[in-house]
Amino acid sequence: MSLLNGKRINGVTVRHDKNTKNAVTTPIPLPQRVTIPMQQHMGVPCKPLVEVGDRVLVGQKIGDTEHLFAAPVHSSVSGEVEALTEIVLPGGKRSQAVVIHADGKQEEFPHKTPTITTAQDFFTAVRRSGLVGLGGAGFPAHMKLAYKDVERLDTLVVNAAECEPYITSDYRTCIESAEDVFDGIEAVMHFLGLTHCFIGIEKNKPEAIEKLGKICKADSRIRVVPLPARYPQGAEKVLIYQTTGRTVRAGSLPADSGVMMQNVSSIAFLADYLRRGRPLIERFITVDGTAVERPGNYSVPVGTSIREVLEYCGGFEKATQILSGGPMMGSAVADPEMPVTKTCNALLAFTEPEDFALSATDCIRCGRCTAACPMGLRPGMLEDAYDKRDTAQLRALSVTLCVGCGSCSYVCPAGRPLSQKNVLAKDLLRKEGN
Ligand code: SF4
Ligand code: SF4
Repeated sequence: MSLLNGKRINGVTVRHDKNTKNAVTTPIPLPQRVTIPMQQHMGVPCKPLVEVGDRVLVGQKIGDTEHLFAAPVHSSVSGEVEALTEIVLPGGKRSQAVVIHADGKQEEFPHKTPTITTAQDFFTAVRRSGLVGLGGAGFPAHMKLAYKDVERLDTLVVNAAECEPYITSDYRTCIESAEDVFDGIEAVMHFLGLTHCFIGIEKNKPEAIEKLGKICKADSRIRVVPLPARYPQGAEKVLIYQTTGRTVRAGSLPADSGVMMQNVSSIAFLADYLRRGRPLIERFITVDGTAVERPGNYSVPVGTSIREVLEYCGGFEKATQILSGGPMMGSAVADPEMPVTKTCNALLAFTEPEDFALSATDCIRCGRCTAACPMGLRPGMLEDAYDKRDTAQLRALSVTLCVGCGSCSYVCPAGRPLSQKNVLAKDLLRKEGN
C-alpha cells in the first residue's frame, strides 16, 4: 500500500546529520566576481539585458524573457559586466551567464516596495522578485501562485520538512525569520483567498516547531503539523497527504486537490520582498561534509563560485566529492567554478565518497525498493524495463509518478542506481512523445 491509494506512506529512515542546526546564518565575504546564469528556474531561459562594459547595481535586473514561464535574474553585486558566456550548471544543463566584476561598493539599485491592491498585482510582483521554488525544484513562484482556477484552492501547505540529511537552511529560516514566514503565509492566503494553512515540519526540529507555533497562534487558520522524521516527508504529494489527508491523484496537480504548496524559505523571502522590494539575489545555504572545517549556514550572493564558498569554509582542499544539494537529491559538482544558483540550498564536500553511492551488484529481489517507495512504484522492475528500453512497460509501471526522492537507491543493498534510471526513463518517454 502506498500514498497512491491513500493507505500508508512508505519512505525510509535516513541518517539526519543535521550538524549545523545551531549555526546562525552568516554572510561570506563578497566575491570579486560573480557568474550569474540565465537559467536558474524550470522553464524558458532568460536572455541577458546587459552588455560587456555596462555598470550594474545590486538587485538590478540583468536577464529576462517575454515568456511567462520564467523568472527574471538580477545582479547580486555592483560592478562591471566583464563577459557574456555559456556555462554548465550542477546537474549538467548548459546556460548563458553574465560575468560581473564586483567593485566592492555594493551600491543598491533603487528598489521600490511593490504597490499591491489586487491578486494580479501580487502575481506581477512575485514575478518581478525573481522568486523560484527555493526547495530545489526552481519552479517560477508566480506560475504556481497564479493558478487559473484559483477558486478551487482553499489550503496552503508550507513545506518546512527539510528531510534531506545535512541540510538545515530551511530550519534556520524558521528560527531566524519566523515573523517573515508568518507574514508570507498571510500574504499568500489573502491574495489567493485561502482559508487554511498547514506548516509541515519533521518532529526532529522542536525549536522551530515551538517558534512557528507561538507566532502562528495569532491566526487560528494556520496550524503547525509535526510529522515523523521519515524521508521523503517533504516530497510534494507526501507532505500534502500528511498534512491535509488529501491525495493528489496520478497525473493531477496539488491545485486539483485544492492545495497550494510553497517551500518555507520561499514564503519568508516573499514577505521580505513585499516589504523591501529587493529581489532574489542571495541564497542561505548549508555548507557541511567531512571535508569542511567550518560547517555552517551562510548567506551567499547568487553567482559566487562553489570553490570560493568552500574555500571560505575550509572545505575545498580535502574534498574529493562535492554535492550541490543534499545526498539524496543533490547533483554532483563536476567543476567547482560552477556558481551558486537560486535553487542551491546546500554545498556538501566529502573527503571520501559517501556510502550513499555504493558500486552496483546484481539485484537480489529483496523488495526493499518497493517497500520504500512513497509513490507505490516498483523501482526494481522499472530499472529492468528501462534497461530493455521497454517504453510500454515503463508506462504500465507509471514511471512518470516517480518524484526522484532516491529512497529506493538508498535502501537497495545491491547499490542499484534506481532513482537515476527513472530520470533517464522519463527522458526516454519524453523523447518518444509518450
Ligand atoms: S526515486 Fe522514484 S521510484 Fe525511487 S523511491 Fe522515490 S519515487 Fe519511488
Ligand atoms: S532493493 Fe535493490 S536488490 Fe532489492 S529488489 Fe530492489 S533493486 Fe533489487
